[in-house]
Amino acid sequence: MNGPTKAQSSTFAIIDEKLRLRKALQDITNRIHAAQNIKQILVDLKDGILNLFDAHSITIYVVDNPRNEIYSMFLAGTQLREIRVPISNNSIAGFVANTGRVVNINDAYNQSELKIIDAKLSFDQNWDKISGFKTKQILAAPIYNNNQLLGIIQILNKKIGEGKFTEEEVGLALEIAEVLGVAFYNQQRFERRRKTRFDYLINHDLLKEEELERAWEESREQKETMENFLMHKYKISKEDIGLSLAEFYHCRFVQYSDKTVIPGDLIKNLKKDFLRRELWVPLEKIDNKIHIIVDDPKNIIKRDTIENLLKTKQVKYDVALTEDIIKFINLFYHSSDDEHSFTEILGRLDDEDTIIEDEDGGERITESDNVIMQLVNKIINDAYSRGASDIHIEPNIGRKNVEIRFRIDGDCALYQTVPFSYRAAIISRIKIMSNLDITVKRLPQDGKIKFRRPMGEEIELRVASIPTQGGVEDVVMRVLAKGETMPLEDMVLSSRNYKELINIIAKPYGMILCVGPTGSGKTTTLHAALHHINRPDRKIWTAEDPVEITQYGLRQVQVQPKIGFDFAAAMRSFLRADPDIIMVGEMRDFETAKTGVEASLTGHLVFSTLHTNSAPETIVRLLDMGIDPLNFADALLGILAQRLVRTLCKKCKEQYHPSKEEYDEIVESYGTQEFAKLNTPYNNDFKLYRPKGCEACDKTGYKGRMGIHELLIGTDSIKRMVQKHETVEGMRNKAMSEGMTTLLQDGILKAFKGFTDFIQVRRVCIK
Ligand SMILES: [Zn+2]
Repeated sequence: MNGPTKAQSSTFAIIDEKLRLRKALQDITNRIHAAQNIKQILVDLKDGILNLFDAHSITIYVVDNPRNEIYSMFLAGTQLREIRVPISNNSIAGFVANTGRVVNINDAYNQSELKIIDAKLSFDQNWDKISGFKTKQILAAPIYNNNQLLGIIQILNKKIGEGKFTEEEVGLALEIAEVLGVAFYNQQRFERRRKTRFDYLINHDLLKEEELERAWEESREQKETMENFLMHKYKISKEDIGLSLAEFYHCRFVQYSDKTVIPGDLIKNLKKDFLRRELWVPLEKIDNKIHIIVDDPKNIIKRDTIENLLKTKQVKYDVALTEDIIKFINLFYHSSDDEHSFTEILGRLDDEDTIIEDEDGGERITESDNVIMQLVNKIINDAYSRGASDIHIEPNIGRKNVEIRFRIDGDCALYQTVPFSYRAAIISRIKIMSNLDITVKRLPQDGKIKFRRPMGEEIELRVASIPTQGGVEDVVMRVLAKGETMPLEDMVLSSRNYKELINIIAKPYGMILCVGPTGSGKTTTLHAALHHINRPDRKIWTAEDPVEITQYGLRQVQVQPKIGFDFAAAMRSFLRADPDIIMVGEMRDFETAKTGVEASLTGHLVFSTLHTNSAPETIVRLLDMGIDPLNFADALLGILAQRLVRTLCKKCKEQYHPSKEEYDEIVESYGTQEFAKLNTPYNNDFKLYRPKGCEACDKTGYKGRMGIHELLIGTDSIKRMVQKHETVEGMRNKAMSEGMTTLLQDGILKAFKGFTDFIQVRRVCIK
């Protein structure tokens, strides 16, 4: 048997070689398609592709459309480096990207050879100069998929043979380019699909994908956080950034607010500098879970650290902007104008010092006393600077923390929590400050604290201690801030009310009453009225409990009911002290009311307050008390009922067109017949305002309060009805027919003007 001929052998060799090549190509194709990402193809699989060619070097570029460049990556030692080439005719690869043509060059340095391909084509020699590599042959082909240019494959310098790369090699390069095209397309699609924390912005058309791509790079260059960069450069609102982060991390987005409750017990053992560096801080404890705000809730390493430090897995992570986290940390560790922060004070109470109640309920007092003192001072100072009217200290039973709440603008809100172990010490300290008996724990007590603020102002606190369930004691402190007198013009009275009030307070004698529940601003109104008539030719005596507002020219007296110097006694002494005008804090009993009526009938102008709901009800109340109807009818000048409503935040309130149902409800509340007189039909021009919420108002949509009023004038017809002891209903109707607007009506009119909304008005007007 003859062996294969020479020609046959050579044919077999070619077939063999072709099979080997096919196999190698298949192998590399599989590996390309299995690649994790484009980077892996560019760096790790490059040599495998190079093995298919008998060449010295290969570079695979990826198109970066937003920057009009192509780039590649390579390993320099262990460092990953990037090269970037502009899509232009100034380099071979750039030319291929620019034109989409395949280029096969024998000598890169031969200008005339390049000119034949394109007049403007040049070879960039810089790379050779840096690397010492001498480029000769270049084979470069575009990588396409679906007519979209995705990259360039460039092969340099044949290992054997002269001249250009062969036709087979060009064919092979094109085959590889096709494989790469499919791989790049799939990878890019995959990478596009890969979620980023800003997907929400793309999905809601707030940002284009190219813009996001660019923003990643630009923010990195400008060393700014991506969030800040998007807010500044692309004017994305903080709210939208928040929605995007919340969606991505599946958690809450927490924005900074300086009204945030300081989580004293949660941060007691954490160092400020550490938290600032690590960018997280505990915010609150809800349902036994500690809520931590962190810049990246998916960061496992950070979460591990946090859970180790807090010694619990009961942690929930919320996301916040870096700068907000810093602000929270600053707030928590340096919360107010005085030098000691809440946390710092708590931190100084060593656990060994913990003040534990004895079995009999008495407590051992240790050297921590001084710290407890600072803690209580801090609570009072913070309450005052936040404009709180009341401080509620609420100890819980067992090992639950003490809650401290402030009432601000009429609503209570949590201010701080303090570890349960200090509850007895805090309560004792307040009782000592207010001269209460610290051994009496099973009966309510009341007292006061005169408190000097760091800046020297003096404030007074009314203190009530009340035994509560579980053998603990609550303490509630009313902050009696020394108020300023408000001019009557600033009280936002309706023009009718203002005119009528000015008129009656100018009378030489008679009785003027201001009525409403506690905290409805009665004292402020009375002082405003007194201020209006406070002149050197008039002697004005006031009996108050306590004196909340001081006014030059008034002779102000603090009553002392405990020693028998009550309102009635004060008024009797005033009558012997040549008064023109008398103001009595409150007519809570028959004696005071009777003396007041008599004083007003003997040539004095008398001002006072009552805890009644409306102006007409006040008349009936006094008559029911036993006041003589004829005398009272003579004395009565006017009764002003008042409430405070929360006002809409001017910065963020929103105008809207209410539904017909809402309109009808308002009309019905106002009184259909009365409303008809206002000539406010329901049409498209009918607009109301509603709260929205912004930084200025702590997201509530409301800021501050204002009065709503109901002023009943003691006209002749009203006086006649008083004499006859007529019903509240009858007197109200009469007064309304004479021009009085009810509290609800005045409130609705103020809602129409955009000062407040119907919800707030209805809330304070419900009896
Ligand atoms: Zn606001």
